[in-house]
Amino acid sequence: MLTPEDYNDPLERAARHARRWIGSVPDRHTGPQATADELAADFGGPLPEEGMPPGEAVDRLAAAAEPGLMAMGSGRFYGWVIGGTLPAAMAADWLVSAWDQNAGLRFATPSVVAAEEAAGRWVLDLLGLPAACDVGFVTGASMANFAGLAAARWRVLERAGWDVGAQGLAGGPRVRVLVGAERHDTVDMALRFLGLGAPEPIGVDDQGRMRPEALEAALAAGTGPVIVCLQAGNIHSGGFDPFGECIATAHRHGAWAHIDGAFGLWAAAAASTRHLMAGAEAADSWATDAHKNLNVPYDCGIAVCRDVPALRTALGMHADYLVHDAHGDHGPGDPFEKVPELSRRARGVPVWAALRSLGRSGVDSLVDGLVRHARDLAKRLGALPGVEVLNDVVFTQVCLGIGSDARTQAVAAELARDGRVWMSASRWRGRPVLRISVANWSSDGADAEIAVAAVQDALAAAGPDS
Ligand SMILES: *Cc1c(COP(=O)(O)O)cnc(C)c1O
Repeated sequence: MLTPEDYNDPLERAARHARRWIGSVPDRHTGPQATADELAADFGGPLPEEGMPPGEAVDRLAAAAEPGLMAMGSGRFYGWVIGGTLPAAMAADWLVSAWDQNAGLRFATPSVVAAEEAAGRWVLDLLGLPAACDVGFVTGASMANFAGLAAARWRVLERAGWDVGAQGLAGGPRVRVLVGAERHDTVDMALRFLGLGAPEPIGVDDQGRMRPEALEAALAAGTGPVIVCLQAGNIHSGGFDPFGECIATAHRHGAWAHIDGAFGLWAAAAASTRHLMAGAEAADSWATDAHKNLNVPYDCGIAVCRDVPALRTALGMHADYLVHDAHGDHGPGDPFEKVPELSRRARGVPVWAALRSLGRSGVDSLVDGLVRHARDLAKRLGALPGVEVLNDVVFTQVCLGIGSDARTQAVAAELARDGRVWMSASRWRGRPVLRISVANWSSDGADAEIAVAAVQDALAAAGPDS
């Protein structure tokens, strides 16, 4: 029999370890202090024959993990596009584990489904997307792109008289997929999963935004089923495709328009950046993340689709052993019909908690604060000798030119060694760049101060370009 007391000791220990970890984040070195290979001995070896008390296993885990943890939740972490965790979202995530609901069916797990449906409606409202869209909570924007493009594949082929569900792809009409030359690589990955092959890149401008006339020319040059994949938030420039024109062009040619807005879709939630998303609401599907700008814990992405039958046909299934949603095909639908999984964690519940704790004004301030922080860093770092800001800082991304590949790598390595901030080296438009991404809710003026000092010191340590 389950004895509730058995959970007390491991949970209390876990809470203690979590508090200790969070307490270390404000002052902690941003990088891990051990490699996975070095940590292997503490985690690995043959599985012991005998177990140990659960609380002790939790202690072992926390002790072994401590040196190799990266302070991704730090306000001084500017690598990739990684959000932290809001307090309410983290606590809600613990509850999701405690409740342990398999959140696939409305009938079976109504509490978490109702919370996710409410969170989904709030997300549509905040992002300025049509209220009648389906919302699926997935693992990240990779799977959100997959979900949107799966619906797209089904619909454009259906319009061409081909049922991909029944007939597969072989022998059917070829689906063209047009993407911006600077789309995120996960778009290619999703297309590969879907058997659609490599996409056709469309020319972009100096901020990585799709050129509408290039899209028009590519669409005019071919016939048959077409999907156009646009981007909200270029990972280097933060740039947004011109949605109004691109979507109108796509629709004129009978194409499906999908938007990858892993972090950029959130521009719509702040008054100061909403203009960047103008026209985006006319698309057919959208992908975004909650674990980036919204700062819910990993992992959580959000798939949004206007064409409800297309999404549910592409991703859903019918099984006699399940009790399907009583509203039928026109109702709210079961969660499993809107995502690639059947069994699933209620990962929309931390989204509900994040949004409920912030309120509409709090989400506006969160997004606006990230952009202000990026602009502040760009201004101050761009004023340092030998540093050039290479992008228009319209959102949360800053690309610094600091010299050759070798010097950029040396400065990134020095920053990683120093640990006060984390920034990564990359290449953009043929140039080496030091890339800064602001996605943490807690980044503040003190963090910016530290970042400027750290970059200054790293530039000095790396010396001039040889
Ligand atoms: C992060 C990102 C993705 C992938 O998202 P995951 O959450 O890692 O799956 C896709 N597109 C863009 C623009 C991104 O920034």
